[in-house]
Amino acid sequence: VQGYDGQKVAVLGLGRSGLATAAALEAGGAEPVCWDDSPEGRARAEAAGYACRDLTRPDAFDAIAALVVSPGIPHLYPKPNPVIAAAMAAGVPVDNDIGLFFRSWASAAFASYDSVPRTICVTGSNGKSTTTALIHHILREDGRPTQMAGNIGRGVLDLDPPEEGEVVVLELSSYQTDLARALTPDIAVFTNLSPDHLDRHGGMGGYFAAKRRLFAEGGPDRAVIGVDEPEGVYLANQIMMGRNDDRLIRVSSARKLGDWGWSVFARKGFLSEWRKGRQIASIDLREVTGLPGAHNHQNACAAYAATRALGVAPRVIEAAFHSFAGLPHRSQTVAEKRGIRWVNDSKATNVDSAAKALEAFSNIRWIAGGLGKDGGAGALSGHLGAVRKAYFIGHSARDFALELAPLEHEICETMEAAVAACARDAEAGDTVLLAPAAASFDQYPNFEKRGEHFTALVEALPG
Ligand code: ADP
Repeated sequence: VQGYDGQKVAVLGLGRSGLATAAALEAGGAEPVCWDDSPEGRARAEAAGYACRDLTRPDAFDAIAALVVSPGIPHLYPKPNPVIAAAMAAGVPVDNDIGLFFRSWASAAFASYDSVPRTICVTGSNGKSTTTALIHHILREDGRPTQMAGNIGRGVLDLDPPEEGEVVVLELSSYQTDLARALTPDIAVFTNLSPDHLDRHGGMGGYFAAKRRLFAEGGPDRAVIGVDEPEGVYLANQIMMGRNDDRLIRVSSARKLGDWGWSVFARKGFLSEWRKGRQIASIDLREVTGLPGAHNHQNACAAYAATRALGVAPRVIEAAFHSFAGLPHRSQTVAEKRGIRWVNDSKATNVDSAAKALEAFSNIRWIAGGLGKDGGAGALSGHLGAVRKAYFIGHSARDFALELAPLEHEICETMEAAVAACARDAEAGDTVLLAPAAASFDQYPNFEKRGEHFTALVEALPG
């Protein structure tokens, strides 16, 4: 990281990204001054050789050039963070690792190359990781050097120095776009929008505002925008000024968009690319096993559009769809036993993502529940047509049962009991789907552990 040579920079939050930030600052000649509310965090920093300073002290920001905040720390809602508030009140610029990446790392790292720097940022409520990983995979299959970071894989400040022609693909959550002081990707991708993390952003308006920042001031060089929600239409037609040229690709998983300048849409299992009223390419997605369901077809369209914007050929993208293995815990088939398919979608932590999973399969035995989110599960009522029976677990089990009545169900409490009940009830042709529509924190440290537990239980079932 450049720009802070010889200056003190405060780092708040000492998890993985905080420590990577401290290291990157030090490498650029700055002096990191670290703080974390938890003694474990401070111990990690001190073990790595960084000085800690209590940033809650009144004079904490004397002679500090900037404050860099970890994405896990809420800054305004549900209540203002006192350290961030103090820095802002003292006029100290507040940034995060993404901002540092765009302000200094990217420009310095790419500066020696003739080719235009290439960064792609993916944001949205759902499908970010899948779309990011798919873009990365397509670029690799096209033989281009590429690295993936952000909310997926490594931290942005842990990236290797890029090769000539390299494309860096970043997944950005609203937590990351929120505070970054610079956000200047070459290509920005917006997948979709639905309520999530609202407590942290003070409601839907704040949440959308955080994501919108990627498209500030007329937008990036190229924008790929999902227009299946009013917010996406607003971004495309208002913020990107309704452009019908090469700068904007509209994406839909519901509607034919052929009349717009450049568009990619999926209907009835087929992806189509249209440009200036003419169809350019069509891809059959029905047999693409790594991307099941309409929601993944939306992700496929977004990844297709982003890589087409870089000039990748449609046939290369089609072949890459077929070789894409999918990501763990997202619509992942973990076993086929006695004609029964077992699917781990532990990442379906909100109602919208669970609804998409419920629409992607048939004859479903549905395992759901956990730590329910604001608004409850009632909105799933219209998406239960393929569900034969529900098996509710965790803190919200009884609430889900009430909110989704008269759905046939069983209160199982634990994953062990739910998997056993499904094994007892399921018949050949059924799909057992873990799509919790809830966070995992009541019973697990994270959604990965929940998905791994489900998978281990399924693997232990008789074949
Ligand atoms: P994110 O990184 O945005 O959380 P993921 O790709 O990890 O997105 O997918 C999270 C969950 O959301 C998946 O488990 C799946 O159930 C659902 N999902 C994936 N893509 C979409 C989409 N385009 N629209 C709605 N839900 C989706």
